[in-house]
Amino acid sequence: MKSPKYVYPFKEADGSNKKLFGGKGAGLAEMTRMGLPVPSGFIVTTEACLLYFENKRRLPNGLMEEVQLNLKRVEEKTGKVFGNPQNPLFFSVRSGAAISMPGMMDTILNLGLNEETIEGLIQITSDGRFAYDAYRRFIQLFGKIALSVDEKEFDQILSRMKEKVKAVDDTALDGDTLKDICKQYLRLIKKRTGTPFPEDPMVQLRLAIEAVFKSWMGKRAVDYRKEFNITADMADGTAVNICTMVFGNMGFDSATGVAFTRDPGTGENLFYGEYLVNAQGEDVVAGIRTPKPIQEMKREMPRIYRELERVRKTLEGHFHEVQDFEFTVEKGVLYILQTRNGRMNAQAIVRTSVEMVDEKLINEEKAVQRLNPRDLEQLLHRRIDPNFKGKPICAALPASPGAASGKATFDADEAERLGKLGHKVILVREETKPEDIHGFFAAQGILTSRGGKTSHAAVVARGMGKPCVSGCEELHIDPKGREAAFKNIHIKEGDFITIDGSRGEVYMGEVPTVDAEISNDLLTLLSWADKIRTMGVRANVDTPEDAIRARKLGAEGIGLCRTERMFNAVDRLPIVREMILAGSKEKRAEAIAKLLPLQKDDFKKIFKEMEGLPVTIRLLDPPLHEFLPSAEELSSELLTLKEAESALSSIEHMNKALKYVEPDFRESLRPLEHMVSDIIEIKKNKLDKKLIRKQEDILRKVKEMMEVNPMLGHRGVRLGITYPEIYRMQIQAILEAAAESTKEGLDIQAEIMVPQVCTAQELKWVYQLVKKIQKEVENQYGVGIPFKFGTMIEVVRACMRAGRLAEVADFFSFGTNDLTQATFSFSREDAENKFLPLYNERKILQDNPFEVLDVKGVGRLMMITIEWGRRTKPDLKIGICGEHGGHPESVEFCHIIGLSYVSCSVPRLPIARLAAAHAKLKEKEKKVPEKYDPDYPFSVLF
Ligand code: PEP
Ligand code: MG
Repeated sequence: MKSPKYVYPFKEADGSNKKLFGGKGAGLAEMTRMGLPVPSGFIVTTEACLLYFENKRRLPNGLMEEVQLNLKRVEEKTGKVFGNPQNPLFFSVRSGAAISMPGMMDTILNLGLNEETIEGLIQITSDGRFAYDAYRRFIQLFGKIALSVDEKEFDQILSRMKEKVKAVDDTALDGDTLKDICKQYLRLIKKRTGTPFPEDPMVQLRLAIEAVFKSWMGKRAVDYRKEFNITADMADGTAVNICTMVFGNMGFDSATGVAFTRDPGTGENLFYGEYLVNAQGEDVVAGIRTPKPIQEMKREMPRIYRELERVRKTLEGHFHEVQDFEFTVEKGVLYILQTRNGRMNAQAIVRTSVEMVDEKLINEEKAVQRLNPRDLEQLLHRRIDPNFKGKPICAALPASPGAASGKATFDADEAERLGKLGHKVILVREETKPEDIHGFFAAQGILTSRGGKTSHAAVVARGMGKPCVSGCEELHIDPKGREAAFKNIHIKEGDFITIDGSRGEVYMGEVPTVDAEISNDLLTLLSWADKIRTMGVRANVDTPEDAIRARKLGAEGIGLCRTERMFNAVDRLPIVREMILAGSKEKRAEAIAKLLPLQKDDFKKIFKEMEGLPVTIRLLDPPLHEFLPSAEELSSELLTLKEAESALSSIEHMNKALKYVEPDFRESLRPLEHMVSDIIEIKKNKLDKKLIRKQEDILRKVKEMMEVNPMLGHRGVRLGITYPEIYRMQIQAILEAAAESTKEGLDIQAEIMVPQVCTAQELKWVYQLVKKIQKEVENQYGVGIPFKFGTMIEVVRACMRAGRLAEVADFFSFGTNDLTQATFSFSREDAENKFLPLYNERKILQDNPFEVLDVKGVGRLMMITIEWGRRTKPDLKIGICGEHGGHPESVEFCHIIGLSYVSCSVPRLPIARLAAAHAKLKEKEKKVPEKYDPDYPFSVLF
């Protein structure tokens, strides 16, 4: 049997196989083939990493022999020799999984340095300072990563030495001091590990490979994969990239930098990046020194800049995607060390998608695919209210757009603690590191005093869509004292601050913010999504104003108009109460007669706005007591009224008492006497004596209507059948509005929907009422009124009787808010307030089923309903109008099970449109089966 191959030179690895070579390895391989200047190197595969864990953390047999072989080839190619003091070869050893996990795994640079090779490096470069700087970085990184020595101990030594020689930053340390630091580091390692630092470069290489493998299962990486749902299917194990070291800190003709082929913050097609002269890569990424914008390189290193511009074009032309690449210039020679797809916020993805289609780099489908519906949420983020006149306290780099307010918090643990308690926090740090990741998750936004737009803080915040302001150098942060200061403004831990990551500004206090606007580019992208998707998208709308907004955002109709919201309007509520409290049929009829024209007017306005599109109007759903004040409110009002009455009675007595006052003194009391008489007059003639009785009546009625469990009580169609006048009025209002609008020449597509149905008999009862009223209205107006009649499916029994319901209904609409309550027997409010968070934390339930459709339970019921409903009526239109209709994965499920449309709240329309297109594209890519399969989607989704 041929023994497996674990190691591939860059030029032999398959650049399209990210699973085997990781994203970084694949990129290096691809760039090598494209002829870009990549230093020589080789890749240890992810398969080797998996075997390492399978073998109880032992490297697979033969792996180091393969490494040796490839090392020889690199030696031949470079003319340098690993471990040779005269002509030493050094390596960077970097992690890299199939999915990019920035900063989550380990990397070691300058590998191969030891007491002998350092001499070689000094001779070659004639620069002792440079060599010892490289050596100290290597010992520190290797010590921390491969030998598990606490990083803080290295930092302490470095800080002590900086203080001793009065150096402000690392660049001010001279060669002798750095040499001294190296010695101290080596002593520290021996003390902590019990053995000397490994001098043999091959031992260093083996330990480094193992350390990178181990970091795949490190806490940071595991947490990151969990947070971003990175499954083994997407990325399994890390590769190790072993690449010849090139040095950006070999003097002023050397540099290092990070660049994006387009601006990752805005998506604008301009070369974007940062670099530092005479520095190593980690200085840029860690934000230790604030780098210069790449444009400055035009002046400082014009030839290199031109070369970089060429690389930029070549990369985009090849990958058809925005690239984020790292480069180093070693003594005037450019090297590209890494490329990967640029992580961008949603705004930048939208802009680049549209522009890259214009430039014919990608097609419309690819453009739509690039934007994840979840990320689209970022665009629905808030920004600072333009009317806000306050001034920022300081300005820095706009590192990740959006505005956020929260309590200033100076470390990630505290941010996490406060976040868990439900506080909004802004993580304020000098610079962030990968171990701060839990603080990012908890924070609303990030503010750092150091680092550029490619610093760790900026990259991670952008990836998460959280606002970030970085490089705020004038902000002096004292993490120990838990405060920060800008000039004479002090920010203490817990003080509210607001950051604007789009402008790079910081404000004291909680600044008002407004919703984001939808850009033309986004509208273009969504129009492409509409061409792709096959499932309809409607909106849940209750007012004409919302109907206008919904149309603008591409709604293809109204999937749910909740009429009770109209009942609650200020001018309606008193009439609705009159209707509920009416003591007789006649009185109720009077109130209803007043409501009819108002409702008709509402419907006409909505029909007008939605002309030519279906409008589903749901008959009244909530229990009637929801329109009345609560018993507590009424009791307390009654008490006040009664107290007022008794106070007035006391004043009446006072008038009698005044009669007994001495006549001389009485004269001076005349004004009081008049006042008291006036009050008595008020009490007798003006005080609404009926008020107390009326309130008592209402209270009695409210008590009569009280239900133990109103959500399972007298509501929906049950209410419609017991108080037929209400449904009659609503049906008449809908049909008259439709008739009048039709006569005005509008194309009306009314759909009447009945809530809470559990038996076909209920539905038939309402249907007959509708037919009767239809005849009356048609006769009255002399026009035919086409309409559809349907039912909500929000009761488990309705699912079980779908076949029968479909005999009466033209359409079904899943009310998954109620259906979820009914399926779980959870009352939403009680569940969310009392036990769901704990259920989620303990993984008893993965998600909140009121946000993410529970496909295994509720979804299964939906599938049965669809199957049985369409068995009766094959063309039965079926939609969803519960909140899940705007949740990306739930929308995908709705597409898979064959829903005709999803209906969601207006702001979520773009998400639903995009998610429906993504579902269709996945289907096209055969990620979902074409035909309905009873075991599907469980087999694919889980
Ligand atoms: C539902 O139950 O999903 C629904 C849309 O109705 P409501 O939220 O009004 O109860
Ligand atoms: Mg409902």
